[in-house]
Amino acid sequence: MNIAIIGVGQAGGKVADAVLEYESNSRTDFVTQAVAINSAKADLLGLRRVPVEKRILIGQSRVKGHGCGADNELGVRIAEEDLDEVTAAVDDVPLHEVDAFLVVAGLGGGTGSGAAPVIARELGRLYTEPVYGLGLLPGSDEGGIYTLNAARSFQTFVREVDNLLVFDNDAWRKTGESVQGGYAAINEEIARRLGVLCSAGEVDDGPVPESVVDASEIINTLAGGGVTTVGYANAHLDRPARGIFGRREAAPDETEVVNRISTTVRRATLGNLTLPANVKSTERALLIVSGPPQYLSRKGVEDARRWLEDETGTMEVRGGDYPIPDSEYVAALVVLSGVTDVPRIKELQEVGRETQRNLEERAAERPEALRNLVWGGEGGIDPLF
Ligand code: GDP
Repeated sequence: MNIAIIGVGQAGGKVADAVLEYESNSRTDFVTQAVAINSAKADLLGLRRVPVEKRILIGQSRVKGHGCGADNELGVRIAEEDLDEVTAAVDDVPLHEVDAFLVVAGLGGGTGSGAAPVIARELGRLYTEPVYGLGLLPGSDEGGIYTLNAARSFQTFVREVDNLLVFDNDAWRKTGESVQGGYAAINEEIARRLGVLCSAGEVDDGPVPESVVDASEIINTLAGGGVTTVGYANAHLDRPARGIFGRREAAPDETEVVNRISTTVRRATLGNLTLPANVKSTERALLIVSGPPQYLSRKGVEDARRWLEDETGTMEVRGGDYPIPDSEYVAALVVLSGVTDVPRIKELQEVGRETQRNLEERAAERPEALRNLVWGGEGGIDPLF
């Protein structure tokens, strides 16, 4: 599936960068166009892979290139005001080479949180291709405002896209890691998952899969909207090093091949989701198993697909393989689309609600508190003029 990726805000831009990096390292080709949108000039300058002419600074007249802070209502406003500049950057995308748009943003901040849903809505109006979102949830240690921002943005973003893929930073931050180092690892993880998903069906010169997962399979899985979580796991293969005589590798044992696929798919589904969710609440699912062709068996993929049907309780489970001859891994990617039972979202909404109530109460008390401070209460002092 070929995508046009639009990274909004700092996190959005960095994820777009990481996806381009993955594409280049894995010698795949699924990004037709990459654009970064931000109101902070320094963040745009810090990107490495998004082409310079596709880094678009918005909101200059209001924030002078300094960003929106954590004010996502400001993010909405500047995106609405500068929509023309955003659409002009996407305008030259070769549409015959794009199967979908992907708008990426961290939902806890200001620019991405506010602007991403506005941009997604406009792309949906202009193009017939599906517009997907990728929303990054803030860590629970980031505080109430970030959580409230994310809860508000999440609600709006889901409404404006054809499906929202969600990645929970909270579930992925390893203890002891620096925030920056942690984000770099998280962004690589996101890029790998998107990369496997999008490049699986785009094999022009490699071995042909037994069962291809093309763009229409992915689009059908994501149809129906809502929220999607993506699982991934891999198993390292002990492949013999190729000797100087180019000795051929012995064919692996079929039972082992099938079992390896089965355990990898289970690990991907049950312990490694981008957004932990109750698997039973899935509406549609998609499974991709990748690895060297001799380690991919039709029976293995078919058994795993049936297991996923049982586990999710949905009959709509698509599956296929993605042969990568030189790989040292068998990997499984599992897309669970339309999940509805997600504890982290409930928690986000509760904390968001509490923060909103707290802010409103403080705002209501403020005028009187300020009056008391300045006028010194009853029988106060006369002002100068
Ligand atoms: P914006 O520039 O105003 O949109 O805000 P940021 O993108 O800087 O931050 C928004 C949220 O995104 C933060 O609260 C973090 O949770 C998250 N975030 C920031 N940088 C990264 C990153 O590089 N990767 C990931 N996964 N999340 C990030």
